[in-house]
Amino acid sequence: MKLSIRIAAPVMERLRRYHLAAGKHAEALSYVWARAVERKGEILVLVPHNAPLKLFAPDCFVRQTAGNVQLCPDVLNGMLIGFAASDFNCLINVHDHWFDETTTFSSTDDRDDLVFDRYLRRSFEPMLLQHPHIGPVRRIHNLSLVLAQKGVEARLVNTRSKRRFLKATKFSVIGEQFERPVIGIRGNASVADDMFTRQKDFITPDKQDMLANLSVALVGCGGLGSILAESLARCGVGSMLLIDDDELSLSNLNRWQGGCHKDIGQPKSKILAANLKRMFPALCVSALVSSLYATEAEQFLVGADIVVAGVDNDEARYFLNRLCLQYQIPYFDAGVDVTIEPDSPDFRARFFAIVPGVTACLECTQIELYQRQKTLDAYQDVVTAEARRNAGYVTEQPEISAPNVYAINQRSASLLGMELLNYICGWQPMATSILESWKSGIHERLSRKVFPEPPHPSCPICGYYAGVGDAEKLPRPRAFALAALQHLDGCIDVGSLSANASL
Ligand SMILES: [Zn+2]
Ligand SMILES: [Zn+2]
Repeated sequence: MKLSIRIAAPVMERLRRYHLAAGKHAEALSYVWARAVERKGEILVLVPHNAPLKLFAPDCFVRQTAGNVQLCPDVLNGMLIGFAASDFNCLINVHDHWFDETTTFSSTDDRDDLVFDRYLRRSFEPMLLQHPHIGPVRRIHNLSLVLAQKGVEARLVNTRSKRRFLKATKFSVIGEQFERPVIGIRGNASVADDMFTRQKDFITPDKQDMLANLSVALVGCGGLGSILAESLARCGVGSMLLIDDDELSLSNLNRWQGGCHKDIGQPKSKILAANLKRMFPALCVSALVSSLYATEAEQFLVGADIVVAGVDNDEARYFLNRLCLQYQIPYFDAGVDVTIEPDSPDFRARFFAIVPGVTACLECTQIELYQRQKTLDAYQDVVTAEARRNAGYVTEQPEISAPNVYAINQRSASLLGMELLNYICGWQPMATSILESWKSGIHERLSRKVFPEPPHPSCPICGYYAGVGDAEKLPRPRAFALAALQHLDGCIDVGSLSANASL
């Protein structure tokens, strides 16, 4: 069993200000209410930007010294009653080792964590069971987090389990820049890989390490996806999950990177995985031949550190927007658009990034990235949705396949590739959207510095659904849900209705 934590940067910043302020020479204690999601082999703890944070004034402590802190029992009980009444299932207690650069739990921490956990298991949980009017009965995950100046350590504590401590192996701070604080005492730096000699001056060893430990889910293994995958693998991303339900056809070969005649008829995600593995034997890559809306795809996506998409329809983008906010995953999207009317073509490349807790989302941004209402309306209507999917490509004219060419896919993939590296390395403020038009020569890069559009307070997607994890069901398209139901009755083949998530 592994433990991963995703915490929104604004929460981490407030915790750091409270616990690690310059000139502070006493340990402090705080609590955060969060949500834990249990997956096969993994527990994910999600702390969104709006997670309730309980910071205390000095007079709330009975004792507060350089290395020891204790909260007044009344204050602790008040906090616990509030937590009981909420629907959060993960209680995080945070303390600090302000005197350390990087740190690890001490034997005093072990004792304190076990005492607190016994109280939770023996008194708090039974109290919830006996008095369900106080708050929803649920299993409580007790997470202990210690902050040092540059590092952290976190673990789940459970005195009921054989394994009383489960230490976190991944700790991601989701902000304007992707951050992975050192967990525990810093070990030996990883061995330098000669493959990256020519990029070491701008991708420093710690960032190269971060890329190596990054798990990226790629949705859509079409023309765009085939280029994106190779680009990510070449710059050092260590683990990739490829999702697509389509097979390679002859008409894909004008733009499918690495595609050969002998591969025609094979699933795109599998061919791509095999090609990548041949190029980089050390790369950890898995392929899923499935619609984006299948539950197995959801399992894949939820475990990823970053979701990258090269899909051909806006419905998929809205679904990914919601999924990534719900599970706190940064979402990077590349798209292309070729228009051939009235007499000469134009080639447009688009990019956008949605970072939970930092940027506005696809449903509330003021930039009209995609035709929001039209898309949402179209997919509420089962017949239209089916026609659009069966056409293979989703355009305003469902009967016509969208025109496309390799060069424009390269253009769009390169926009995303650069922005993903920038997000990891933090060279300059991240871009939330880029629009390029070949004919008019427009290149518009909206960065967070120019257009710092935060999550909209009244947007349910980036507000209410932020970090709720499994507490809410993902809204699958009605047509897909209907097809899945009919498939159970043996009336209709789900395959013909599944979203064609590739270019
Ligand atoms: Zn401690
Ligand atoms: Zn929003």
